[in-house]
Amino acid sequence: MAAYEYETHNYDAIVVGAGGAGLRATLGLAEQGLRTACISKVFPTRSHTVAAQGGIAASLGNMGPDSWQWHMYDTVKGSDWLGDTDAMEYLAREAPKAVYELEHYGVPFSRTEEGKIYQRPFGGHTTEFGEGPPVQRTCAAADRTGHAILHTLYGQSLKQQAEFYIEYFALDLIMSEDGVCQGVVCWKLDDGTMHVFNAKMVVLATGGYGRAYFSATSAHTCTGDGGGMVARQGLALQDMEFVQFHPTGIYGSGCLITEGARGEGGYLTNSEGERFMERYAPNYKDLAPRDYVSRCMTMEIREGRGVGPGGDHIHLNLNHLPAEALAERLPGISESAKIFAGVDVTKEPIPVLPTVHYNMGGIPTNYYGEVLNPTAKDPNAIVPGLMAVGEAGCASVHGANRLGSNSLIDLVVFGRAAAIRAGQVVDRAAANPTLNQPSVDACFDRFDGLRNANGNVATADLRLEMQKAMQADAAVFRTDKTLAEGVEKMTAIAGKLDDLKVTDRSLVWNSDLMETLELTNLMPNALATIVGAEARKESRGAHAHEDYATRDDENWRVHTISHVDGNKVTLSHRPVITAPLTTEAEGGISEAKIAPKERTF
Ligand SMILES: Cc1cc2nc3c(=O)[nH]c(=O)nc-3n(C[C@H](O)[C@H](O)[C@H](O)COP(=O)(O)OP(=O)(O)OC[C@H]3O[C@@H](n4cnc5c(N)ncnc54)[C@H](O)[C@@H]3O)c2cc1C
Repeated sequence: MAAYEYETHNYDAIVVGAGGAGLRATLGLAEQGLRTACISKVFPTRSHTVAAQGGIAASLGNMGPDSWQWHMYDTVKGSDWLGDTDAMEYLAREAPKAVYELEHYGVPFSRTEEGKIYQRPFGGHTTEFGEGPPVQRTCAAADRTGHAILHTLYGQSLKQQAEFYIEYFALDLIMSEDGVCQGVVCWKLDDGTMHVFNAKMVVLATGGYGRAYFSATSAHTCTGDGGGMVARQGLALQDMEFVQFHPTGIYGSGCLITEGARGEGGYLTNSEGERFMERYAPNYKDLAPRDYVSRCMTMEIREGRGVGPGGDHIHLNLNHLPAEALAERLPGISESAKIFAGVDVTKEPIPVLPTVHYNMGGIPTNYYGEVLNPTAKDPNAIVPGLMAVGEAGCASVHGANRLGSNSLIDLVVFGRAAAIRAGQVVDRAAANPTLNQPSVDACFDRFDGLRNANGNVATADLRLEMQKAMQADAAVFRTDKTLAEGVEKMTAIAGKLDDLKVTDRSLVWNSDLMETLELTNLMPNALATIVGAEARKESRGAHAHEDYATRDDENWRVHTISHVDGNKVTLSHRPVITAPLTTEAEGGISEAKIAPKERTF
């Protein structure tokens, strides 16, 4: 057994992750007087949420008529009928409240002439239950909305005396013998000390796993650590095959150009200068949902109408927009286009390509944020003591495809919901239970094994192999053949985790070891993604299967549940929750209104 000395910390609640979801949960927990700690491997305001540009969806109706029912309908349709209806209703209903809360906490939203929160159009957000024109629903702070939210929530959390453990890397969950989560074990990156956090509630808010792919808009820290921790405890991941490609990553660097650029009037063109989205989506054109636009772009390129010397990308045009509007509404992306594509957006189009952007799948939860442990008898059974929120979780409000600006609202609505729920279930007066020592020891053993790993494969090489395989075989379009090859490749690649070589054995700022730990987290996420994709014999949302071109609700309107053990994935299913929280008589939407139908734009 590996012997590491450690310090023990006792809390009512700990939150792993200080992005939008983690900070909103931390703030909510601390506000209720729970002893709360927030742990983050990077400084809180460097979390990936800081990069969110376009905005946050809520039916405030500041720019014209809107309602939460329309927002809910769009979210249901956007999910391609795979989202859980109760959670989607909760999201849409609570969204305005959550945005006003942010405003009162101090988020500096852009304003209308009358001083109201400014809202812009975003893909898939419409009026009249998808029958009316696009709606302006996305609240924005110029094109730096995530930045504004993150800084505000961090300041507010400090004010509420939440304690922060910054540059602490969470290694593994501590679980009791009967399956209750009791805390996490952490490695402090800057001095090499070890820390055991004992908590009555653990909230995972570790973000997505975009870095399982070669080209992604996500930060290098988006390595699915929460999913990795959960998978190692034999717990479930859900709907991992649904990976969102954002239509407009800058060609080459993958750096994001927000959908807000098209919301403000930007449009895509092919090598013939044609605004091709008009042909594919006569109603919503460039503001059709992301999965659809990404597929249309890929088809244009395949049919020989891509731009550039290789004919392998598409143009995003903003140069027809007034320079003042670009400077006021899209200053950040104007700068990104200059730096990463050498383009002056007031004069030339930006070269763009669909780029991995968001993980719809994740750790399954109910709409309170409680982690599910689905069994055949009870598909909605929970794991006591464990919650997941934000991109790490899967509530599931995004189903098979997330609408733009629905993630930031997911972070704050469910970060808040989890805090409220924890306030109800955590017994503040009770002493923290004794930790299950074998579970703590197992974590140190794994850590020590990786620290001394002396095999033949360098971490960076194996990571690259994984990223290339995922990029090639779990792409915008998928076929039986590419997916079967991908599963075979990824099974072999994941098998090589046992043969890793770590060269640096120190405990202080050992980035070699940290990246190795991250790779062990990316891998189960990636493996579950490709195995889930191979098994799903239909096309739905972001999963576009060329051998099964249509959606098959009879057989496949189910959540994919995966259990990953080493390089083996076992799949099962969990029913989609189709009943809304409220009936039409209570002011909600009737089930008939949101029944599955063809998704056209
Ligand atoms: C470039 C870009 C632009 C986007 N724009 C928008 C937008 O305009 N609107 C919208 O709705 N969505 C947008 N999205 C999506 C949205 O921003 C993300 O889904 C969301 O910010 C994720 O937030 P999060 O709190 O779940 O995780 P993150 O913000 O990724 O934070 C994860 C946190 O977990 C911590 N962490 C992870 N692992 C560990 C570990 N092992 N130990 C300790 N700490 C750990 C990290 O330190 C970090 O604090 C965008 C995404 C990108 C990449």
